[in-house]
Amino acid sequence: TQVQKPPHIAMVPTPGMGHLIPLVELAKKLVLHHHFFVTFIIPTDGSSIKSQKAVLESLPNAISYVFLPPVSFDDLPKDVRPETLIVLTLTRSLPALRDSFKVLADSTRLVALVADLFGVDAFDVAKEFGALSYIFFPTNALSLSLIFHIPELDETYSCEYKELPEPVKLPGCVPVQGIDILDPIQDKKNDTYKRVLHVAKRYPFADGIMINSFMDLEPSALKALMEGAREGKPPVYPIGPLIQSDLSRGVDGSECLNWLDKQPERSVLYVSFGSGGTLTHEQLNELALGLELSGQRFLWVVRSPHENASANYFSVQSFKDPFDFLPKGFLERTKEVGLVVPSWAPQAQVLSHGSTGGFLSHCGWNSILESIVHGVPIIAWPLYAEQRMNAVLLSDDLKVALRVKVNDKGLVGHKDIANYARGLIEGEEGKLLRNKMKVLKDSAAKALSQDGSSTKSLAEVTQLLKSHKK
Ligand code: UDP
Repeated sequence: TQVQKPPHIAMVPTPGMGHLIPLVELAKKLVLHHHFFVTFIIPTDGSSIKSQKAVLESLPNAISYVFLPPVSFDDLPKDVRPETLIVLTLTRSLPALRDSFKVLADSTRLVALVADLFGVDAFDVAKEFGALSYIFFPTNALSLSLIFHIPELDETYSCEYKELPEPVKLPGCVPVQGIDILDPIQDKKNDTYKRVLHVAKRYPFADGIMINSFMDLEPSALKALMEGAREGKPPVYPIGPLIQSDLSRGVDGSECLNWLDKQPERSVLYVSFGSGGTLTHEQLNELALGLELSGQRFLWVVRSPHENASANYFSVQSFKDPFDFLPKGFLERTKEVGLVVPSWAPQAQVLSHGSTGGFLSHCGWNSILESIVHGVPIIAWPLYAEQRMNAVLLSDDLKVALRVKVNDKGLVGHKDIANYARGLIEGEEGKLLRNKMKVLKDSAAKALSQDGSSTKSLAEVTQLLKSHKK
């Protein structure tokens, strides 16, 4: 009898470090605990290959990767939104993706495609080669529930969502005000709206959806999604929290960590807006002055300012020297209490460090999960994508974050920032948030334990994949 080849999975990440990092963690689990082989097939416009390679380096042998030929955006206007570029990176790569898929299908036992949240146009390719189509959804049940409801919202309301008189109530979820709904669908005239609507309409065609959340974090929202499978929607498998585990990758983070070593326990506010977030120059100034006024210790990852909050999405690195934009004398005045680093910090290590007492975050879902796993309470300062919804979940539902308020000038003022920082690090409110975070931290560890809900959920998916016959 012929020995069956090991099952092979093609993973297709769309641009964005926040999409790649958890997918790599999933690949590692599938390879190390479930004996799969994984090949990453990566559509790209060429701009972030270097940072992506840093994540893909030194993975187990059963994981390989190939970058597809870079697509060009020369024909597009300068102001297209990142979500449009993400979707186009994939659709423009489909012929090359098909070629790579064929090579894999011919040489391995290819059982499934795992695409991320924007990767649904790759389903057709998977189908052509008899592979299953799974989505890895790198954010939470609240956002997934919204995606399933976008077509219905589109038909029900002709106004912009920010003008909705009542909050949107999704099954099992905390109510969300119109203004906080997914940023890329806030302007119906923009091309991105149509693209996200198209993506949402394809979700029901997935064979299953793995989601980076866990039962104890969003019990009622996840239950509602899982019940959807009975009405013909794809089954949903909560398998998180999957967070960055290779702490040493690429960057030299020793400056941050050595500095943290010298600070008192839980005294430092870590400030970062993720891999792509940027502030305006005016807002950057308010933040600097606010941190200074607070008198708290801080570790701030600073980027040069930009009018567009997601300006760095495709590049990660600052455009200019960010230190040139800080208030005059700021670095000198704060050198005893603060460390400011340009562009990038070893975040996972920073959050796991005992000196870190709080996180001022843009509320990217990976950042939030990392904060939960390490039990660090949050100041929620959402900027774009689904970050406002994440902030609602954290502050209104889970009660592990303070959410910043924007004043009538559209800014978060320096006095408010100082109050948030003090409140979180040494105030009574901070204590309450930290205690709540501790409960989440323990339930996250439980979900991932041997008998935990996420471990079981992933085992269920792997059984289905392994038994798939073409
Ligand atoms: N990250 C990091 N150093 C930084 C900024 C970000 O290591 O200075 C990592 C962070 O730990 C997380 C990811 O990049 O794993 C960012 O993902 P998230 O979903 O939080 O936000 P996004 O960058 O996608 O907006």
